[in-house]
Amino acid sequence: MNHFQYKDGVLCAEDVSLAAIAKEVGTPFYCYSSATLERHYKVFSQSLPKDSLVAFSVKANGNLAVLKTLAAMGAGADVVSGGELKKALAAGIAAEKIVFSGVGKTKTEMALALKSGIFQFNVESEPELFALNDVAASLGVKAPIAFRVNPDVDALTHAKISTGHSETKFGVPWAKVEEAYAAAAKLPNIDVCGIDVHIGSQITDLAPFAAAFDRITALTKSLRAAGHTISRIDVGGGLGVPYRNDNVPPPDPAAYGALAAKVVKETGAQMIFEPGRVIVANAGVLVTRVIYAKSGEDKNFLIVDAGMNDLIRPAMYDAYHEIVAVKAPAADAPWSRYDVVGPVCETSDIFGADRALPVLKSDDLVAILAAGAYGAVMASAYNARPLAPEVLVKGDEWAVVRPRMDDDALYASDRIPAWIG
Ligand SMILES: *Cc1c(COP(=O)(O)O)cnc(C)c1O
Repeated sequence: MNHFQYKDGVLCAEDVSLAAIAKEVGTPFYCYSSATLERHYKVFSQSLPKDSLVAFSVKANGNLAVLKTLAAMGAGADVVSGGELKKALAAGIAAEKIVFSGVGKTKTEMALALKSGIFQFNVESEPELFALNDVAASLGVKAPIAFRVNPDVDALTHAKISTGHSETKFGVPWAKVEEAYAAAAKLPNIDVCGIDVHIGSQITDLAPFAAAFDRITALTKSLRAAGHTISRIDVGGGLGVPYRNDNVPPPDPAAYGALAAKVVKETGAQMIFEPGRVIVANAGVLVTRVIYAKSGEDKNFLIVDAGMNDLIRPAMYDAYHEIVAVKAPAADAPWSRYDVVGPVCETSDIFGADRALPVLKSDDLVAILAAGAYGAVMASAYNARPLAPEVLVKGDEWAVVRPRMDDDALYASDRIPAWIG
């Protein structure tokens, strides 16, 4: 369910025409719907055990206006860098609702997080544990931690976003978990609070979650028996979204919530969730303009003004995104099949192969759907292409929430060393 629908023959975000926005801000641009963000947050959080902390994964979409929209609904934040921590705080998210994940936290980042008073560090290794203890000692505080454990389950998702089997860099290996907790218990500036797990992203089958939750429930019991305090269980993010219209839809949040309820029933722990994609993916589109419609030998190409630098998911994860014309096709419109490609000099700069679309020509607009997660945040200025703007819609209002990068900014911070002159 999202709020990008055709109205009066044009694709709209809520009550605003995407063509009208394109006219004012140019293309390409990202557009987010507040109503969709709010709806997804509500449906997700309402299906969870009460007293849960929903810590939105800032890496999925870090625009301050998006963060503030979610913060107003009660969301906390899951951050993976000092920069994301600063963003979350700048968006008004209380430190007591922030968890800090990531396999390579630096001491500088740890100090920033400790001084801010965040809720929890999700620690991924013993070296990180010792570093955190040192930093906390130097500040005269205790660091609240959960170990991110690697439950060795296969998330049945794309290899590049699968993080919970034993061969990834993530988490404390299952066989070493008890050792890690025993080491933590001996450290004066570490406060062990819980367990954390995150098995991957775009998971469309509940079975891997069920397997991971069962392992965590059992682990909670054995760690408690060994004398550790496990009052929180953080189950990470990872719930998938429907990218393709014709696919079996991913599990609904209610079914996922039922699995979480079972964990609470058996452990009594407070649960923490770190959803990213499930909240923002379908709340955003990337609008782009056809530069040329080009006929190849066997294929037709639509060359659009967005590139893999703007949305890298297809190139990086073989991700599928629906692509639609912004102007609703007339009932008798001729259709064709196109490869929809960007202008970047890479063969992987392709948004969709062999897509059925109404016949389009230069200057027509298309929208790449479900681009709200891991879209703008992963964009780069590769090929000296300025970062695309982001727009947020609410009802019949809209605002640019990040302007297009200036062309000047593409090289304004380059410096010429003296020997070049
Ligand atoms: C990426 C990530 C998330 C969010 O994942 P989604 O699939 O977007 O829900 C949550 N927690 C951690 C530790 C992550 O790395």
